[in-house]
Amino acid sequence: MKMAPIPDIYGLQPNSVGIPYLSGLLRAALGFTSETPTAGQVKEHSQISIKACKFGGTSLADAAQIRKVQAIVEADPERCYVVPSAPGKRHDDDRKVTDLFYLCHNAAEQKVSFDEVFALITDRFSQIVADLGLSIDLGPHLTKIQSQIAAGTSPDYAASRGEYLNGLIIAELLEFKFVDAAEIIFFDPRGRLAETKTQEAICQRLRSLEHAVVPGFYGSMPDGQIKTFSRGGSDISGALVARGVNAVVYENWTDVSGLLIADPRIVDDPNSIDVISYRELRELAYMGASVLHEEAVFPVRQADIPVRILNTNRPGDPGTQIVPEAAPIAHTGSITGIAGRKDFTVLALEKALMNTQVGFGRRLLSVLESNQVSFEHMPSGIDTMSVVIADVQLDNKLDRILAQIRSECEPDALEVYPRMALIATVGRGMPRTPGIAARLFGALADAKINIRMIDQGSSEINIIVGVETSDFERAMRAIYQAFVT
Ligand code: ASP
Repeated sequence: MKMAPIPDIYGLQPNSVGIPYLSGLLRAALGFTSETPTAGQVKEHSQISIKACKFGGTSLADAAQIRKVQAIVEADPERCYVVPSAPGKRHDDDRKVTDLFYLCHNAAEQKVSFDEVFALITDRFSQIVADLGLSIDLGPHLTKIQSQIAAGTSPDYAASRGEYLNGLIIAELLEFKFVDAAEIIFFDPRGRLAETKTQEAICQRLRSLEHAVVPGFYGSMPDGQIKTFSRGGSDISGALVARGVNAVVYENWTDVSGLLIADPRIVDDPNSIDVISYRELRELAYMGASVLHEEAVFPVRQADIPVRILNTNRPGDPGTQIVPEAAPIAHTGSITGIAGRKDFTVLALEKALMNTQVGFGRRLLSVLESNQVSFEHMPSGIDTMSVVIADVQLDNKLDRILAQIRSECEPDALEVYPRMALIATVGRGMPRTPGIAARLFGALADAKINIRMIDQGSSEINIIVGVETSDFERAMRAIYQAFVT
């Protein structure tokens, strides 16, 4: 069966402020005896810091990869809680197990046989179990899952089974307790994460276990139905577990040695980022850098738990550390990262004495609002005002919007600049560091790139420039070279 490749999603991970785990003395003081059951097979150890580790799909794609994961976990007794993804791609033309499960569900829905695809899943897991030399029998689980899918279960249930089965395998291998995510991660009736309930459940259940494996990507609805996060959501599960056990660090193990300063498809062999703040990460992710699942940042950020993104294939590499904003702003004179997106349209208005007109901006934005269009930036000059809009927002509404702006705002001129790209250069304290802007704009000028828009706004951490889409890649390379040599 020929299948189109599906883009991979990266995983992630971090470092320490100890949650005191019950040491022998403390346990005695609290009245625990060595017989006191603490739920699950608690093995006494004296470690005081806890790390939560999420491993992405490529880190668990086959037995050889899983052995690396085992070595990583066993190398550090603080790595107590493991959140696995489903087996991912072993090579470029491979399929992720999650995608295979979705295919099964789609076929079943259309009353088409999915036996062939299900056999691929069965083979994949059987091979892993055999190669690892485990005695776990996944047969009954697979039979149940197959019949549930045939009986018309939800796509979320089907998709979540990759993590579920992989979790059973990893738990057996590591001799950790398996805790079904459905028992500790909850959604509300509208399908949103039930934060407090989840936090309490994780806290209560996992802190009584010295070690546990919790499958990523899913939880349960109030009626017990399985619900998944959006794709790549094991990152979120890992972050929730890290917060629930008050980990000193959330380690997110993936197949790259951390975040890169620029997109490697555009800049050759870019350096990686050692330390980045949550806010910088958010800016880069928003501008298109593919990193963690966006929602994964919030639970750990709230709890001030740092994240480290590490490479399962090169565990000795330092990776990237994502830290709270509190970290001092280092005016290094350099930048943290560069990211950009194409496909924007700029609407530029000009009107003499615009500043004396009360309500001009409001009228302009009301036109956008009444057309259900959100804008990204709004740079303005003395008698000019522009709005930068992502093309996906505009659809086929542009002509109507222009007509409405003309009648509502009566501008002297209204220009449309299509095919714009935005590039954000991000770095803490950067816009306030003398010389940075000069270096940035100088590099673009040297490369003969026309800057169509500059938005430094009130952000202290980035400068955004708008360039023609055709200049996008050249501009990214010019900026990279100006700062990273
Ligand atoms: N396995 C799921 C996916 O492919 C979730 C994850 O890996 O994070 O999206």
